Amino acid sequence: MTQTIVIAEMNSNAVHPSTAELVSAAITLGAEPTLVVPCTDAGQASGAANMGAANIIAAKSDAFAHYDASAWATALDAVVPQGTIVTGASPQSKDMAARLAARRGISVVQDAVAIDGDQITSPVYSGKAMQTVAIGGPAVVSVRSNVFSPAQGGASDVAVLDTTGDVATSVQEFMARASERLDVSEANIIISGGRGMGSPDNFSELEAIADTIGAAVGASRAAVDTWDAIPHSMQVGQTGKTVNPNLYIAVGISGAIQHLAGMRSSKYIVAINKDADAPIFQHADYGIVATWEDALPVLHSSLKGIMG
Ligand SMILES: Cc1cc2nc3c(=O)[nH]c(=O)nc-3n(C[C@H](O)[C@H](O)[C@H](O)COP(=O)(O)OP(=O)(O)OC[C@H]3O[C@@H](n4cnc5c(N)ncnc54)[C@H](O)[C@@H]3O)c2cc1C
Repeated sequence: MTQTIVIAEMNSNAVHPSTAELVSAAITLGAEPTLVVPCTDAGQASGAANMGAANIIAAKSDAFAHYDASAWATALDAVVPQGTIVTGASPQSKDMAARLAARRGISVVQDAVAIDGDQITSPVYSGKAMQTVAIGGPAVVSVRSNVFSPAQGGASDVAVLDTTGDVATSVQEFMARASERLDVSEANIIISGGRGMGSPDNFSELEAIADTIGAAVGASRAAVDTWDAIPHSMQVGQTGKTVNPNLYIAVGISGAIQHLAGMRSSKYIVAINKDADAPIFQHADYGIVATWEDALPVLHSSLKGIMG
């Protein structure tokens, strides 16, 4: 049986809770997984305890201070054991997955949403179809969040390996765009607005709800393209970000296939649209046929009541 290795999903040098889901996926692939934590300080790997892995390795390198595809793949390749590697499916992790696979000359399967033995299912053609492939040996598999239940228990002791190795270049400083808002790719709840919001100023209505329920605010491409005040970083969809939150609330969004490509695998989808025939309703678990002007105040006051 091939050994499985999970690369921890990192966020601001901390192990992201979705890592436990990756361990669960690795267990489904058939072996007791080793969890490798890319870190600058071995203490950062303590967050990987009791996430279901048989072993935890803190892979320590200054290169892990900021993401850089080349440096991360080089540093990880030096310490990750041979076998099937499981990563997250964030843009960064998919980038790294492809690099690792190329370095090792093994296959890569991106965006897995189901695993059955060696059979891996993932969406293709912007989510219009699903494909199932069989892996016949070591491979790198990126796994979408909110698909597997988090694994529990397992190792808490951490072995430390220095991976400074032959990393030739790495990013020394990263200047993030100033924003106090949660990014859509990190959020468990997203409320997105489309062209139906009428004006970028009206996104404040979405922000108010987002602040009440701890959500990120996203947007359709039409909103991003129409209004300079709505940055591309908020765009969800085929040419934006792929998200997989527990709850996705689409407001004034028609539900074009390119938008659906980025959010259709959300656990619950709520749509608010004044047009009862809008395609988004075919994919929504709950639909509200109303203008956002009518629906959002009611929704917001109910949510405030629930959140206390
Ligand atoms: C190659 C390619 C890539 C693309 N990539 C993306 C992508 O990544 N993400 C993306 O989103 N799109 C993408 N698109 C664009 C996509 O095809 C759609 O044009 C876009 O998603 C439409 O955005 P929208 O739903 O906000 O706007 P519209 O299609 O204009 O829909 C607005 C909706 O708002 C509703 N509405 C209007 N007023 C109100 C109101 N007061 N209250 C409630 N509802 C109201 C309307 O009934 C309508 O359904 C891509 C297109 C192409 C060709």
